[in-house]
Amino acid sequence: MLKEVSAKRIETDIRKLVSFGTRNTLSEQDNPTRGIGAARHWIFAEFQKISADCGNCLTVEKQSFVQPPTENRRVLQPTTITNVVATLRGTQNPDRIYVVSGHYDSMCTSPSDGKCDAPGANDDASGTAAVIEMARVMSKRKFDATIVFMTVAGEEQGLLGATYFAEQAKQKQLNIEAMFTNDIIGGVTTFKNSPDRNSVRVFSEGVPSNETEQEAATRRSVGGENDSASRQLARFIKETAEIYSPKFRVMMIYRRDRYGRGGDHIPFVERGFTAVRFTEPNEDYDHQHQNVRTENKKFYGDTIEFVDFDYVANVTKINAASLAKLALAPTRPKNVVLANRLGNDTELKWEMGAETDLAGYEIVWRETTSPVWTNSIYINKVTDYLIKNMSKDNYFFGIRAVDKDGNKSPVSFPKPVRN
Ligand SMILES: [Zn+2]
Repeated sequence: MLKEVSAKRIETDIRKLVSFGTRNTLSEQDNPTRGIGAARHWIFAEFQKISADCGNCLTVEKQSFVQPPTENRRVLQPTTITNVVATLRGTQNPDRIYVVSGHYDSMCTSPSDGKCDAPGANDDASGTAAVIEMARVMSKRKFDATIVFMTVAGEEQGLLGATYFAEQAKQKQLNIEAMFTNDIIGGVTTFKNSPDRNSVRVFSEGVPSNETEQEAATRRSVGGENDSASRQLARFIKETAEIYSPKFRVMMIYRRDRYGRGGDHIPFVERGFTAVRFTEPNEDYDHQHQNVRTENKKFYGDTIEFVDFDYVANVTKINAASLAKLALAPTRPKNVVLANRLGNDTELKWEMGAETDLAGYEIVWRETTSPVWTNSIYINKVTDYLIKNMSKDNYFFGIRAVDKDGNKSPVSFPKPVRN
């Protein structure tokens, strides 16, 4: 599958997106060649073409809503915002959903300027093209769980499209097990010689944004600030990349997002979903959120010549491998608890997964100062396990599910329970 990811097709798609002149959320909705309406129309048609090529395996939808004026004054009058969404239904557990996203809107210097040229080649035609390319390659295969390929708008006005999707998902109680946002993954050519060139940053929060006071108090008492579900997802992506992308690696960043910046994963984590952000390691601020211009002999603008298509393809491959692993593996174990009682053994309990191809579980552990899981043992299809002579006070423990083909879920971190 990864061999089929094409830097050439990604380039063609980014060029097409740039050709709409601007994709600002406040730009024209009904001009056939310029503005966000033209871009949306093209993305929708592209997803439909991909679906036609896989025997209509995708459900392609426009999710529109009218955004009232926002407090940040980036939307001044009611504006229609549209997410374009293509869903590949899972064959075994269709209710379990993984979302991969990029934002197709763009901006120049001012987020509320719908007229200026805003090519947005890197921010975020790169992420949008990655999502479309994943839809092409992955729709040729079958997965146990459902994968949603999503492109959203209104990101630059305050994560509006993603917020709408996440809120709808929460209200409908959709089981979104993980969400990736790809935003600024163009690998700006100005940093071709950077030491971090062959890597992509994956941002994950350590303490869940939506946890209650009581959950926070428990977390403080036994540690776990580094063990949210989003952090486990980041570790899962890193482990997957180590297998399938040995030369292009994941740089895990243990923070929700960059200083003073945000992204489409945030409305998801705020609603209790598990989500991470993919972004290139070196951003070039002369080539994002800038009016296209030359000033004092210096060129500014997010234009196509600063995008490295091979780089985008490498990030796309890590996304696709991770999504495939997630959607093939069993779901991560639920209601995992650690028996909170005096003693030098450690006991974990959890709920049995419902998948028919579930084979067993793996208990994982690490030193409390280790950034990643370092050890594991396989155990059978049981719902509790006593780890003899290893104190819960001295290590962090977790558990993941394994299917008959050896696909492993992300790790679940236990909650302490007195018993
Ligand atoms: Zn962006």
